[in-house]
Amino acid sequence: MKVLIVHAHNEPGSFNAALKDQAVAQMRAAGHEVEVSDLYAMNWNPVASAADFGSRANPDYLVYALEQRHNYEAGTLAADIVAEIDKVRRCDLLILNFPMYWFSVPAILKGWIDRVLISGVFYGGRRIYDRGGMQGKRAMAVVTLGGREHMFGADAIHGDIGTMLRPLLQGSLAYCGFEVLPPFVGYHVPYIGDEARREVLAQHAAHLRAVDTLTPLSMPAMADFDDQLRPLQG
Ligand SMILES: Cc1cc2nc3c(=O)[nH]c(=O)nc-3n(C[C@H](O)[C@H](O)[C@H](O)COP(=O)(O)OP(=O)(O)OC[C@H]3O[C@@H](n4cnc5c(N)ncnc54)[C@H](O)[C@@H]3O)c2cc1C
Repeated sequence: MKVLIVHAHNEPGSFNAALKDQAVAQMRAAGHEVEVSDLYAMNWNPVASAADFGSRANPDYLVYALEQRHNYEAGTLAADIVAEIDKVRRCDLLILNFPMYWFSVPAILKGWIDRVLISGVFYGGRRIYDRGGMQGKRAMAVVTLGGREHMFGADAIHGDIGTMLRPLLQGSLAYCGFEVLPPFVGYHVPYIGDEARREVLAQHAAHLRAVDTLTPLSMPAMADFDDQLRPLQG
């Protein structure tokens, strides 16, 4: 299996980076090919702008998604974006490894999503969810948090973590056709001791070992919706 890890932490010695390093070592030891996009190390540009396009379908008015499609087909999309698209297209499993920022992903990873998951290749029209461009591939989030585990859940103060991560898990990954595996979540990691962090590393290793047996999250099936994406009755 080919694995792409997109890693978004600004400190190479962070616990989050240790999870990434463990995934690389474990996946390679299991015989998988692993590529890593270390976004801060790459000085990844997260800003979706007209500078991404070497030609323009419409020079007078920027419609970013339409120009993504046009420039990819014309071979004039920014080289840093094309390189990432090629990595995603090569992989069977995409792992997004990041610390939670404001109930979401760090800006550098949001910018990777905005610029890389382009219209035409990853989604378009009714080519979404189980008809999206990444059908047959799987994706998983590996997230570290400051919050404690009891703060997350249906009746907990911050609500359910799956709901919190829905923009990523459903709105980006499932929307593009990935089968989305349950995320791995490391709670409270800056505030627990070394021994507890070693336990989190062990749980992460077990989560990765189980990758072929994890039940994917339930996502919309296009067959349940009509041409206007209204739910079909019955
Ligand atoms: C802008 C911003 C927004 C945030 N929003 C949220 C939010 O909405 N919700 C939330 O819960 N949290 C939030 N946080 C907190 C953030 O998610 C956590 O601080 C982060 O995920 C902790 O992971 P880390 O890798 O950065 O920890 P680190 O601080 O890098 O690591 C913790 C400790 O682990 C040690 N360590 C490193 N490697 C290992 C190893 N191999 N074994 C054992 N120990 C090791 C490090 O030396 C360090 O002492 C936010 C933080 C910021 C900056």
